[in-house]
Amino acid sequence: MQHTDRKLNQMTCRKGNKYQGLTPKTHPWMASLMAQGNLLKELITMHGSPVNILHMDPFEENIAAYRKLFRSFNLKHKIYFARKANKCKSFVRQAIRSGIGIDTASERELAEALDLGMHGQDLVLTSAIKTRTQIELAIKNKVTIILDNVDECHLVNSIAREFNHRVDVGVRVSGFQVNGEKLYSRFGFDIDRVSPFILKNIGENKTYDRLDLTGLHFHLNGYSIEERIAALDQCLELAKQYKSAGYSIQFIDMGGGILVNYLQSREEWESFQLRLKESLMKKAPPVTFQNNGLGYRVLDGKITGSLDTYPYYNEIHGAAFLKKIIMSRGSHGKILADELKKENIQLRIEPGRSLIDQSGITVARVVHRKQDAVGDWLVGLEMNMSQMMSSSADFLLDPFIIYQNRATNQKNTAVYFTGAYCLERDLLLKRKIALPALPEIGDLVVFVNTAGYMMHFFETEAHRFALAKNLVASSRIQTLTTNDFMIDDQASYHG
Ligand SMILES: *Cc1c(COP(=O)(O)O)cnc(C)c1O
Repeated sequence: MQHTDRKLNQMTCRKGNKYQGLTPKTHPWMASLMAQGNLLKELITMHGSPVNILHMDPFEENIAAYRKLFRSFNLKHKIYFARKANKCKSFVRQAIRSGIGIDTASERELAEALDLGMHGQDLVLTSAIKTRTQIELAIKNKVTIILDNVDECHLVNSIAREFNHRVDVGVRVSGFQVNGEKLYSRFGFDIDRVSPFILKNIGENKTYDRLDLTGLHFHLNGYSIEERIAALDQCLELAKQYKSAGYSIQFIDMGGGILVNYLQSREEWESFQLRLKESLMKKAPPVTFQNNGLGYRVLDGKITGSLDTYPYYNEIHGAAFLKKIIMSRGSHGKILADELKKENIQLRIEPGRSLIDQSGITVARVVHRKQDAVGDWLVGLEMNMSQMMSSSADFLLDPFIIYQNRATNQKNTAVYFTGAYCLERDLLLKRKIALPALPEIGDLVVFVNTAGYMMHFFETEAHRFALAKNLVASSRIQTLTTNDFMIDDQASYHG
């Protein structure tokens, strides 16, 4: 098909993989922005490639959804945004405006939240490694500290004594029993040993007499609802026990790991995995670079292993995921939400990824096209793998391409997007992406829903590449101009 009637310079946006794709869910602000290709091009000209664009409306909507759920159960609650999922200060500012707290996991995350005006009482410190200066800052500002080990108890207590302060602490618990098996974690106090330790050592006239134990905390690896039900249930039992021993237990904090649904179609998600396996068995053409199995392998002519990516398609996600947990019955047959209410315990959550679902995109410029020795098209983008990377083996969302010029000679072309690091493995997506035409130099590629971990978590400055700029869009969705975007450090969003 030729579209010779199409005006030159009219930018068009197309999703990759029109057929057999993994179609992402896109918030209206994303769709609206992608329809304004010239604007995106100007932003890249001004700020360099790639550029991350953030929008605060979805963040607000996600907060509202959790609140609505808690209120429908009439449950005492508090939401903390896990800052590590994205480094933009705009989310901190917006969290303050929205009246939620922040989960901080380093001294800088903590200091920034305080500097931006968040009250210490709205912060929680959950760092894996807690240094003296970090603890001092937390204590001075009445930040609840989540204790992970005995050395921390010692350090926090001695600093509190120096300052003549008392400190609200929660204890992180792990090692929960799920279906007769113990969940291993390197974090926290083991559930089988935590109670004797607390009862013996924490409280007035005990070793750690400056610590006020006000809550219990867990954060589980992975995304299992069942494991979270078990952990919440077992923490409720501990809470009851500690209350009857005289501790004033006010909260259980169940951490993050609430699932996100990134994709529109179950059918696409399932058939992708089927096709991936067939391609590994050589029954279908490759769907990934050099037939990367993304966790699947062929062993003795059979597929083994499991998909080593984030589970991008989830019917139960966000508030519904949380609802499922609190509506469940604990080991004593009582509904967990009812038990929390009966015990007058506030339920705290620390969602990172799921609070910023739909809040960000990453846009990069096409620099070159080439065909490799086996005939695959490689499209070089002005960005690198660290600027869109998580612990997932691949980011399984179809990207969008914005053609500056799509007049003639369109020919479906499947490509791999490659990045700027000197590594063979700097492929921005391992999946092969079918495009309606080979991109031209200067065309733009848009990766959607990258705010949670993708854009910042593993970002590095190897080769002395500058970190990407983060631009925050004003809340209006339609017809923006470059003036409606502020660099994150200066952005003051008025939603
Ligand atoms: C990472 C982390 C979170 C956030 O996890 P998400 O999967 O982004 O929701 C919350 N709490 C703690 C302690 C964490 O380590």
